[in-house]
Amino acid sequence: MRIARFVVDDAPMYGVVEGEPGSEEVAVVNGDPFFGKVEVTEKRHKVDDIRLLAPIIPRSKVVGIGRNYAEHAKELGNEVPPAPLMFFKPNTAVVGPGDPVTMPTFTEEVSYEAELAVVIGRICKDVPADRVNEVVFGYTCANDLTARDVQRTDNQWARAKGFDTSCPLGPWIETELDTEDLTVRGYLDDELKQDGNTSQMIWDVKDLVSLVSQAFTLLPGDVILTGTPSGVGLITDGQRYEVEIEGIGALSNPVIRR
Ligand code: MG
Repeated sequence: MRIARFVVDDAPMYGVVEGEPGSEEVAVVNGDPFFGKVEVTEKRHKVDDIRLLAPIIPRSKVVGIGRNYAEHAKELGNEVPPAPLMFFKPNTAVVGPGDPVTMPTFTEEVSYEAELAVVIGRICKDVPADRVNEVVFGYTCANDLTARDVQRTDNQWARAKGFDTSCPLGPWIETELDTEDLTVRGYLDDELKQDGNTSQMIWDVKDLVSLVSQAFTLLPGDVILTGTPSGVGLITDGQRYEVEIEGIGALSNPVIRR
């Protein structure tokens, strides 16, 4: 099932997306699917007639994972870490499909990073890897935008990874997905830049959720970014980056400098 969050006139609501790419419709859902059963109503809209929002604004956190693909660690001159490298992006970093990413004034080098995002469905802690399926709500596409120059000079990555608009999510959450072998692609102004596969992850989704939950209690709506494949590079004012993940869909955002 594909769960979208969207607006037609004013109030955000949830819906179930149905249909083939290009002709999707969304059936309006009563209430919040994160805290109740998905109750589909009769009301429907064409996806072209609505504005998709980030499918989730985490109430507590986005946990990022650094260097989870060996080729990507290598391209930036880094070793693969002995344990997953974790960082936070605040929920104020999250934006939705098509929303502009605003380059902060303190950086000259913003990089794109196409990533599979895991959305947590229930409160959990110390989850064994073989029970991770029970706590996952679904999966969406993410762009882990990074101020690379600031990442090099700051000891902590808070500014480099957590600035406003640095975490586009969408276009919706796919609740049924086998994540072991999915292509993860990224296009800069339609030119293919990243072409990876989740099978190349050093720690897979089950291991990551389990290890993250050893450090942090996870709440419904929390998001874990699973790292980016190789091919990262800079993006600047006027360009657009599209993240495309097999079995989910595509998330595209323009970058602007205010
Ligand atoms: Mg990343």
